[in-house]
Amino acid sequence: MTSKVLPCVLTIAGSDSGGGAGIQADIKSFQERDVFGTSVITAVTAQNTTGVQGVFPLETKAIEQQLDSIGEDFKISALKTGMLFDVSTIALVVDAIKKFSWENLVVDPVMVSTTGHILLEHEAIETIKSQLLPLARIVTPNIPEAEHLTELKIDKDTDIIRASEKILSMGSHSVLIKGGHGRSEIAEDIYMDQTGSLIRLRSRRLETTNTHGTGCTYSAVLAAELAKGREMEEALMTAKRFIQAAIEHAIPLGHGHGPTYHAA
Ligand code: PLP
Repeated sequence: MTSKVLPCVLTIAGSDSGGGAGIQADIKSFQERDVFGTSVITAVTAQNTTGVQGVFPLETKAIEQQLDSIGEDFKISALKTGMLFDVSTIALVVDAIKKFSWENLVVDPVMVSTTGHILLEHEAIETIKSQLLPLARIVTPNIPEAEHLTELKIDKDTDIIRASEKILSMGSHSVLIKGGHGRSEIAEDIYMDQTGSLIRLRSRRLETTNTHGTGCTYSAVLAAELAKGREMEEALMTAKRFIQAAIEHAIPLGHGHGPTYHAA
């Protein structure tokens, strides 16, 4: 019998009871991309397509023990962080990344839900910048998140380049600023890295409000592809295609912003 090599990927994020974002989106995406998904839950959210009804951060011990359980047993080939909520959780995650020498870190700097609920305390933004970004292979902010990280106002293409340079100066190896929140017909995501390479990923903007979980899914696919040893450019193209298809196939579930859905 030949045994298949199945890379293990870890998501450190919040649970979304509605199944569209957070841990649930990540695990579904890992499965779709043929890697084995493990998870460390930082907070439980009571949530559906209409919004976030409650946020319940887990106690420090619960997060720390999950990190140890994973680190002491699995060989993690890539990981992503999503909703980290507060400074103490970020500190635990940073310690675990160093302790277990985890590589291929994708940081999705989740801050506020589309419906306006706080998923990261304001003072924790500084901790992400100073502690987590120096460990990241890539950080994937949308435009509002890039504005919070850089304190720059982003309107034009040149603003995105300036913001990317500022984020790179925080120590991340690379940055992808996602243009999904813009208004133009083309949704353009811009990638830059420390070696000076710049990649523009373009897709047609789809007229839909069923985009819940888009950011989580995008970063989860990136982590899955990096875990398989794909080069960054190929991982980016796969993730962009995947997210476009997932928005296209989004099903209008619930009464609000339906979740993206990727049909195999
Ligand atoms: N809930 C959780 C637990 C998340 O991690 C995220 C991710 O960004 C969201 C909600 C936000 O989802 P969206 O803004 O795509 O609706």
